Amino acid sequence: MKRETMLAGAREHGRLWDLLVIGGGATGLGIAVDAAARGHAVLLAERDDFAKGTSSRSTKLIHGGVRYLQQGNVALVMEALKERGLLRRNAPQLVLDRAFVVPSYAWWESPFYGIGLKLYDLLAGEYGFGASRHLTAAEVVAAIPTIETDGLLGGTCYYDGQFDDARLAVALARTAAGQGAILVNYCAVVALRKAGGQVRGAVLRDGETGDEFEVAAHVVVNAAGPFCDEVRRLDAADAEPIVAPSRGTHLVLPRQFLPGEAAIMVPHTDDGRVMFAIPWQERVVVGTTDVAVPAATPEPRPAAEEIEFLLATANRYLARVAAPSDILSAFAGIRPLVAAHGGSTASLSREHLLLIDPTSGLLTVAGGKWTTYRRMAEDAVDAAQTLAALPRRPCVTATLAIDAADTRAADRGHALHPALPLTEAAVRRHCREDMARRVEDVLARRSRCLLLDARAAIEAAPAVAGLMAAELGRDGAWVQSEIAAFTALAAGYDVGRRRTA
Ligand SMILES: Cc1cc2nc3c(=O)[nH]c(=O)nc-3n(C[C@H](O)[C@H](O)[C@H](O)COP(=O)(O)OP(=O)(O)OC[C@H]3O[C@@H](n4cnc5c(N)ncnc54)[C@H](O)[C@@H]3O)c2cc1C
Repeated sequence: MKRETMLAGAREHGRLWDLLVIGGGATGLGIAVDAAARGHAVLLAERDDFAKGTSSRSTKLIHGGVRYLQQGNVALVMEALKERGLLRRNAPQLVLDRAFVVPSYAWWESPFYGIGLKLYDLLAGEYGFGASRHLTAAEVVAAIPTIETDGLLGGTCYYDGQFDDARLAVALARTAAGQGAILVNYCAVVALRKAGGQVRGAVLRDGETGDEFEVAAHVVVNAAGPFCDEVRRLDAADAEPIVAPSRGTHLVLPRQFLPGEAAIMVPHTDDGRVMFAIPWQERVVVGTTDVAVPAATPEPRPAAEEIEFLLATANRYLARVAAPSDILSAFAGIRPLVAAHGGSTASLSREHLLLIDPTSGLLTVAGGKWTTYRRMAEDAVDAAQTLAALPRRPCVTATLAIDAADTRAADRGHALHPALPLTEAAVRRHCREDMARRVEDVLARRSRCLLLDARAAIEAAPAVAGLMAAELGRDGAWVQSEIAAFTALAAGYDVGRRRTA
């Protein structure tokens, strides 16, 4: 994928797209794959980089959601478990089976969670990842050598999927492009265009040059996630918000805090949430929180209380205490929860919503989760076909392979930083093949260096900027401004330093 080619495709004069998709996160990319694979002409515009929003900030689980089982939302869990199975089949390189252990410190916990997780197995049916089972205290310690043993009675082990969210996003972009879609990052929708009161196109702004151009489409799909109300207000200035944004924060700790292969699942934290500590890319991800926020922002920052809460909860289960200075990185994302009746976000459904504006025909798709992106896309494209009287073609993504080329061989070579799994070859490839345009794209999403070790990522930024400048034909001023921009951004993730300085 080359941005220049994509942009030229988007600007092709007089072209009428079947679908214009606004937003290049899980939802928009899934819709682009689905619609293009059905043979529709698709243009996707992402104002920032692919997965810059919530889709690079998840807990990285492909799961049915044990939490939704606790809420009694069986239909949602079943749907998500089926999608988990389909994704593992269609992108086996991207979905990893992970064992999760629910440790028990009270007599009732093992039977209680054991029964719940048996139901989880049952609901997965043919899409199961492995049967859950009871563990003795010794077996819990074997799976999680660093677990707090004081009062440990045993536990329950179950299986779920784990992935690299930003990597799946780029794989979906490649898959959509392979099906003929045009996808442009750094290209914002700044206005909608109507004909006879119906939304029939948009004004796009190329974020690199500032140029604006118009595109026309039979149907416009708003997949802007937590920002979808902003897009709805481009259609109708007085549109009532449908999203209740809520922030979720994660900490990243060194792998020695959880050296085994199993993850810890805490089913009930002090604030009534589920919390995970999960091995991920030779680190440990701990999360998450749920804090209602007034509005979505592209770079949400974790609050000090969230970090304290996550650290304190993790430390209750770990024999070796993690200190603030151990935190390698902290990242936060905004849940695009669909606000059914306002109120507390913890009780809102994670199910998705399709909303067709009765006046303008703008199709908004919001809510859901990464795990169910394919199903959301199927529903959205079905609706788009009806809405715009496009040829009715069936969805094919249940069996469509996702283009997740294994690039490890091509990415061998000199590591740019001893603490980071990033090579010069990988940086070049991300520029040439995966539309990386900024230092942040390479360090935060094409690789996950920013999440793995924020301070090391800052140290690697000058080398990355130099390599990218050579690839993209940029000058010294660009290199300097990119290093400065990335350093400022990454400082927000480097909470360990912030809190110990
Ligand atoms: C803390 C947290 C943990 C989570 N963990 C999990 C998990 O483990 N498993 C799971 O399945 N799900 C998880 N989720 C849910 C999942 O991450 C989200 O449901 C999903 O990523 C939402 O994708 P999206 O495409 O709707 O939104 P986004 O990823 O935010 O994408 C919207 C995009 O629209 C773009 N945009 C906005 N305005 C415009 C415009 N005017 N023009 C062009 N583009 C625009 C934005 O830049 C953005 O990239 C988690 C969510 C959070 C917050």
